[in-house]
Amino acid sequence: MCGIVAYTGKREAYPLILKGLKRLEYRGYDSAGIALVNQGIQVYKKMGKVAVLEDSLLGISLSSQTGIGHTRWATHGEPSDRNAHPHRSSNGKLAMVHNGIIENYALLKQELSNKGYQFDSDTDTEVLLKFIEDIHIHHAGSLEEAVRIALRRVVGAYVIIIVDEDDPETLIAARKGSPLVIGIGKGEHFLASDASPIIEYTKEVVYINDYEVAIVKPDELILKNLGNERITPFITQLDMELAAIEKGGFDHFMLKEIFEQPVSVYDCLRGRLDAQLGTIRMGGVDPHLDKLTNANRIIIIACGTSWHAGLVAEYVLEELCRIPVEVEYASEFRYRNPVIREGDVIIAISQSGETADTLVAIDMAKKQKAFIFGVVNVVGSSISRQSDAGAYTHAGPEIGVASTKAFTAQLVVLMMIALKVGYAKKSIDKVRFLHLINELNEVPEKINFILQSAENIQALAEKYKDARDFLYLGRGYNFPIALEGALKLKEISYIHAEGYPAAEMKHGPIALVDESLPVVFVATKDAYHEKIMSNAQEIKARKGKVLAVISEGDVEFISIADDVMVVPVADELIAPLLSVVPLQLLAYYIGLAKGLDVDKPRNLAKSVTVE
Ligand code: GLU
Repeated sequence: MCGIVAYTGKREAYPLILKGLKRLEYRGYDSAGIALVNQGIQVYKKMGKVAVLEDSLLGISLSSQTGIGHTRWATHGEPSDRNAHPHRSSNGKLAMVHNGIIENYALLKQELSNKGYQFDSDTDTEVLLKFIEDIHIHHAGSLEEAVRIALRRVVGAYVIIIVDEDDPETLIAARKGSPLVIGIGKGEHFLASDASPIIEYTKEVVYINDYEVAIVKPDELILKNLGNERITPFITQLDMELAAIEKGGFDHFMLKEIFEQPVSVYDCLRGRLDAQLGTIRMGGVDPHLDKLTNANRIIIIACGTSWHAGLVAEYVLEELCRIPVEVEYASEFRYRNPVIREGDVIIAISQSGETADTLVAIDMAKKQKAFIFGVVNVVGSSISRQSDAGAYTHAGPEIGVASTKAFTAQLVVLMMIALKVGYAKKSIDKVRFLHLINELNEVPEKINFILQSAENIQALAEKYKDARDFLYLGRGYNFPIALEGALKLKEISYIHAEGYPAAEMKHGPIALVDESLPVVFVATKDAYHEKIMSNAQEIKARKGKVLAVISEGDVEFISIADDVMVVPVADELIAPLLSVVPLQLLAYYIGLAKGLDVDKPRNLAKSVTVE
C-alpha cells in the first residue's frame, strides 16, 4: 500500500514521477504528493487521486531533475492535504515519502515533543522524518548516517525516500518490509514501489532488501546495511512489457484483466503442462517434489482472494494427494502459537508477493523448520525471495484492485502441483491424471466461451444492481467460489454480500431471505448436484431470487432459477476456474452500473504491505 516513485538524473522529474504515480495508484489513492528539488525543495500535495494533484499544478512551472512522489493509503491520520506525503522536516531542508507503518511512532513522537518539535500532520511518517532530522542535526555528520541510526530504533515496516536541499541530486532510500525497486539508467536512477513506473526507461533493476540503505545519485548507486557495510547491488533484468500495464482499449483494468484470463491461464500452463505428452513440468517444484509428497501436512497461508484460492487448493490437494491441508489467514496464523513441525510444508499464496502478514507468517514458519513454498505473481517480490521453492503464476501485472486473473492463475498453479504430487504419490492413477491434464488444458478455451456472454451478465447486473444484500452459496469445490463471488461484489459495488456453504445456509442466513434478496448459487454439475438444487428450492419457497452459475445444458436448474449464467461442462475439480468468471463479470458490471470507480474501490488498495 502506498506507491512511491522517485527520480534523479537529467530528465524533467515532474512528468516522470506523475506518470509513475498513476501507474502505482492501485496501491492507494487517498492523496498524492510530489517534492521537487530545485534551489530548495518545493512540496505539492493534495487529498484525492493523482489527477487532483495534476489539475492543481496546471500552469505552474515545475522544473527539476530530482524529486520524490507518493500516492497514499492512509494508516495514521485521515486522508487530507496535511496528512498527504511528502512530509517536511522542521527546518524545511528535508522531505520524505514513506510506505508502511512506524509502530513505535507514539514513543518517538513523545521524545521529539519533549525536545520541542511540533507536528503538522497526524502521520507516523512525519515523526520518523523529524526523528531522522534530530539525529542528523545533533549526532551524525551525514544524512545517510542519521538514517541508519534512526532506523535501528524503528519498529515497523517502511520504504522511505528522502531528498535533502543541501545535497540536491541525491536520494536516500531504505527498506524494511515494504517493496522498493531501483531502475538503473545511464546517468539516472528511478526508484519505485514496483517496476511499472520504471519499465519504459530501463530493464535493469535492483530489488532492495530489508535493512538496506541506498544512496542514489544520477551516476552512482551505493548500497549499505544498517551497520554501514557496503553491499554489492544485484542487478536483474525486468521481464515485463509496457503494454501489460496499460488498459489496451478496455474501460477499466478490471475488465481487461477478466478478459485476459484465457491468455493468463494459458501463460500459466505454457511450458509446464503438455497435454499431448501427458506431463507437467514445473521448474520450481520438480527439484522439491519429495518435500511435498512426504509432507505430513500442508498449511496454506494467504489473505483475501488468495485465501479463497487456498481453500479450493485444500479440497483439491486432499482429494488428489491424501495429505491433510489447513488453510490459514496469515494475520491470524502469525499471532497465535501454531503447531508447526519439521515435515510440514507451508504454501504461501500472494499476488503481489509483498503481503505483510503473509511475509511475517513465512518468517515464523521458517524458524520452526517448515519448508516454504511460494505461489506468487510478481517476479522478484519479497515472498518469492524468501521461499525455499515456489512457482510463479505468470498472470502478468494485475492493476485492478480487485483480483481476477491472478486468482485463476493461482488456482491453475495449485492444481498442477496437486496433480504432480498426487501422481507421484500414486494417490491418483494415470487415467485420472491424464483426464485432469486435458481438462486443465481446455480451460483457456472454456473461459473464452464464458466471456462471450458478458453482455447477458451486464443485463443481469442492471436488473439486480439496486439490491441491498446478496447471498452467495456453493458446495464442495464451488464453496470457495461463493466466498470469492461475494468478496468481489462487496469490493466493487459496496453491496453487502455473504458467501456460505449452501447447506449451512439453513443454520442462519436463510433468515435473511425474502423477495428482495438475490441468492447466487454456484451450482455447476458435480456429484452433489441434487443437493444444491434442493437448496435452491428452499430459497424459492421463501420467495428469494435465485441467480445461478450452471453448467451448459442443465435444464433442471434453469427451471428453478430466475436467471442463469452458463459455463461449459468441466470436471468438478476444475469447475472453480470457470464458475468464478461470471461472478467477476457480475461484480464488475454492478459496480459500473452504480457509477463506481471499479479499478479503485473505496478504502481499498492492492498489495497490502501493512498489517
Ligand atoms: N503510515 C503512512 C501514512 O499513513 C504510510 C501509509 C502506507 O504506506 O500505507 O501516511
